[in-house]
Amino acid sequence: MKPTIALVGRPNVGKSTLFNRLTKSRDALVADLPGLTRDRHYGHGRVGGKPYLVVDTGGFEPVADDGILYEMARQTLQAIDEADAVVFIVDARIGLTPQDKLIANRLRQLDRPVRLAVNKAEGMQASIVAAEFYELGLGEPWAISASHGEGVRGLMEDILDGF
Ligand code: GDP
Ligand code: MG
Repeated sequence: MKPTIALVGRPNVGKSTLFNRLTKSRDALVADLPGLTRDRHYGHGRVGGKPYLVVDTGGFEPVADDGILYEMARQTLQAIDEADAVVFIVDARIGLTPQDKLIANRLRQLDRPVRLAVNKAEGMQASIVAAEFYELGLGEPWAISASHGEGVRGLMEDILDGF
């Protein structure tokens, strides 16, 4: 069975850049403007002979709701619901944010594999990059660079190992 892997995270963390690398396609719009990709994009890829379907989501849009500042966008929740596994992407340059913690709280309740990818880590020491993200409670953070292709293969091999 070909697993479906959803890429989730705040706008601008590099979901579409990672999607493009994982699919070698131009299907996902990569932009400097946060949150430009609103809908889900699907693409096929393969690592170490193992095929997968990857889903790029529009990320988490700010919603004012009874004092809760941010909620997962419905599209993203649907993508997670359809997925066999999730790659949650955070930004090594920005560091841990309150929105990251809210997203992590939801992902921790999932009964399927989640990997935490700390993106934009090129030129940084992996252990230092990872340190502040352990508290999200999603296991070992994976330092990656979607744009430089660093750490991506190891992350995908690890997540595909379970399928
Ligand atoms: P999305 O909103 O999560 O889909 O993020 P994008 O993929 O559109 O990327 C947002 C910005 O981050 C763009 O300017 C990308 O070029 C940049 N970016 C993505 N991945 C990396 C990376 O690994 N390193 C660095 N330095 N920038 C990156
Ligand atoms: Mg995007």
